[in-house]
Amino acid sequence: MNKKYDVNNFTFFKGRDLKYGRDNLTGVLAREEIISYVRHLIEKNVPFSFAMVDIDNFKMVNDTLGHQKGDRVLSMAAQYLCEKVGSAGVVGRFGGDEFLIVFENMTEYKDVWTVGHEINMNIGALRFGEIKGLSITVTMGISRFPLDASTYDELVALADKALYRGKMKGRNCFIIYLPEKHKDIDITKERERKYTSTHLCARVFHYLTCSEDISEGIALLIKQFVSYFMVDHMCIQTRKGINFEVIHNLSKNKQFVPIDYDGINAYFNNLGLVYFNKVEDMREEDYTEILRDLRAQHISSALYCKISAFGEEYGFVRVDMTDTVRIWQSTEMDLITITAHLIGVLLHYQGKTLDDLPRQDVFIMATEPD
Ligand code: GH3
Ligand code: MG
Repeated sequence: MNKKYDVNNFTFFKGRDLKYGRDNLTGVLAREEIISYVRHLIEKNVPFSFAMVDIDNFKMVNDTLGHQKGDRVLSMAAQYLCEKVGSAGVVGRFGGDEFLIVFENMTEYKDVWTVGHEINMNIGALRFGEIKGLSITVTMGISRFPLDASTYDELVALADKALYRGKMKGRNCFIIYLPEKHKDIDITKERERKYTSTHLCARVFHYLTCSEDISEGIALLIKQFVSYFMVDHMCIQTRKGINFEVIHNLSKNKQFVPIDYDGINAYFNNLGLVYFNKVEDMREEDYTEILRDLRAQHISSALYCKISAFGEEYGFVRVDMTDTVRIWQSTEMDLITITAHLIGVLLHYQGKTLDDLPRQDVFIMATEPD
């Protein structure tokens, strides 16, 4: 990936008139052009990888900075992709905040992994000139020809499955389609899952109130949460320790210990919530106490919500990622907030504290696909 980006590195583009073949805003190949290229490679039976790249939470960029700055971000993101791709491939705009990268003659898993990693890992460091303080992440879904599919439509469908799995896993990652892991993903269902936050909220109430025994509801809900959102660790922490702990099989840390209670307490906002998307970027001097604890447990992203009701504090709900950065979504924050506050209300009316509830054995989730 060291040589310079140039579409003319590939036979298809040599001598081709690209006057109308470029995207006006970003200058990368227009959708029709890159699709023609893909169809050409299929026709000639040339192997390639097909990577769909979608900017994470881009709507928020538009909403907070305005459409014009959003345009600038899109344009700079496109340039970044070209630089990173170098002579290994070509970049096109698929539509909106979605790009398509084609890596001709590159289908070995380890090679595709290397370019995916390169693009993914460094985009956070991209700066946007006068737009201060902004950093973006992307999620990628990759399918390969002829390994995974023999038509353009199928390649799109499979890359889309991988992309949605990546979005569900917390964004800021890349997923190479593997049939044994991703074949059964149903995008329509994934979309449904993604957007029915009302349904998810109702589930929280359902689990927590399905039995008079609060412990049963909490244990059930936490297991569901870990599996549904594919998080590495979830538990409830009180001053006395950890309870209701669920650890994902893929988590780098299998032995979580309590983090400094008063240390974290200082960071809860007025909703009783605190989240860290990227622990790695947190400044030592701002988070001295808590950072040491988080790093010692390889926690890369965290979402915590205080359990309190009627002026009484009981503990907090902990959700942790180890090793991979997660961009917390509002749905996830909503659910943790509702969970924590509802637990507080239930404890209050039952006249209990969290430490009165029986200790649950640590439960390790079986490996989820991916
Ligand atoms: P996700 O992480 O799920 O991808 O969230 P998202 O907010 O990025 O959602 P999505 O990809 O569905 O939304 C893309 C947004 O990109 C929607 C639209 O407002 C914005 N967009 C599309 N085309 C343009 C454009 O040409 N310029 C600007 N500024 N924004 C665009
Ligand atoms: Mg997006």
